[in-house]
Amino acid sequence: MDLFDKLGILADAAKYDVSCSSSGGSRNNKNGVGNSHAAGICHTWSDDGRCVSLLKILLSNECIYDCVYCVNRSSNDVPRASFTADEVIDLTMNFYRRNYIEGLFLSSAVLKNPSYTMELMLNIVRRLRNDHRFYGYIHLKAIPGADERLISEAGMFVDRMSVNIELPSDKGLEVLAPHKPKKALLKPMHQISQKIIQNKDEQKIYKRANFNTSLTKRDQFVPAGQSTQLIVGATPDKDLSILKLSEALYSNFNLKRVYYSAYVPTLSDPRLPAIIKPPLLREHRLYQADWLLRFYGFYADELLSKSNPDFNPELDPKADWALRNLHLFPVEINSVDYEMLLRVPGIGVKSAQRIIKARRVGKLNFDNLKKIGVVLKRAGHFITCQGKTYETYSQNEHIVKESLISAKLLPQSKKSVPGQMSLLSELNENGISEGMSDLYLYDSPQNTKQWLSYYNLPQDGRLLISDIHL
Ligand code: SF4
Repeated sequence: MDLFDKLGILADAAKYDVSCSSSGGSRNNKNGVGNSHAAGICHTWSDDGRCVSLLKILLSNECIYDCVYCVNRSSNDVPRASFTADEVIDLTMNFYRRNYIEGLFLSSAVLKNPSYTMELMLNIVRRLRNDHRFYGYIHLKAIPGADERLISEAGMFVDRMSVNIELPSDKGLEVLAPHKPKKALLKPMHQISQKIIQNKDEQKIYKRANFNTSLTKRDQFVPAGQSTQLIVGATPDKDLSILKLSEALYSNFNLKRVYYSAYVPTLSDPRLPAIIKPPLLREHRLYQADWLLRFYGFYADELLSKSNPDFNPELDPKADWALRNLHLFPVEINSVDYEMLLRVPGIGVKSAQRIIKARRVGKLNFDNLKKIGVVLKRAGHFITCQGKTYETYSQNEHIVKESLISAKLLPQSKKSVPGQMSLLSELNENGISEGMSDLYLYDSPQNTKQWLSYYNLPQDGRLLISDIHL
């Protein structure tokens, strides 16, 4: 099979994996190719949160397992392909040199067995780093069930590793992915988190010992941390259990990120839910709530409860929480503590920090708050300034709710379809693929131009990259 065909199959097969944020890695190099930046080397995001400037591929989609929700499951009749190590390395280096990508996201179906697959992936990242001096960002998927030694070794060559839990409950896994018990998924996560801690401790000891040669970023184990992905909507699990699982993962395994992926109904099976569209709003609410867990000091049990186990589609989780706790408001902006400030709708982390700083020098009024960046249309119902309420203030639950709904900032709807940009995609009537039009909308113009200038348009209506000399 020709390389372009493989690329088409294996880039497409990787698009359901959203756990590919590269933020967190930071490394500059003098003698090789590529840097990894702390702010995240991927500046390219589609509206559903998927990043598009990593080369995101599967090593293989020839899976021995048969997870019901997965397009790559063994019983699904799809074209199959596997890259060789040389092919992945050549693609990565050539795409990087042409500035198409800033790093590699490499995942794989389970080929033959977990350790065999992991060994192939390890070989690729080891050769990229050692033989080709590629220091760009690498995110590698750890294959559950693979030999611990292989995962440990691979972690020394990559920036981030992830193990996808996919289904939030044991029951869901039992029904839809019987080959992947939760225990088997948590084991490599535990191993990776322990190894990260151990490696950090070793770094400290090394520093204290004051050796002449310092350890470099390349001596770090998974410096950008680990992440995972949870599929939303493939099982009957409620938002509460998904969020509680995320909370446990953050505290037990020190995860950098949990990604939520709305289940995309591509397969028909009586064990799968009969939905037509991916539950994107639910995914969005989970991302908002996840943010509240990580940066706003909320707990899952505060945002949802057994009697209220799913997020309100009309209101974001913070506004919904505030509305259910109107008795705690209004709070006086000039004296309330930082933790409570963060709970006021319309006040974000930056605004809260600015308020704390600004009120050290004087009492704040509503004009000051506007300048600080507080959204008074939302916050006005929950605060007082020097004892005064805002002009639209009300404690009537119905009025506050209506006001919050009308004040919320709706994301501009874009005509993109859920899914990541495809390297080889169908063209629309303007000669531009849907994926490429996403790039126009969301990415740095520089990259966009370079991408486009290297494409050509053959007669069969597909978009092909014309000038790659591998
Ligand atoms: S193991 Fe992974 S690739 Fe294979 S069927 Fe299950 S989810 Fe799909």
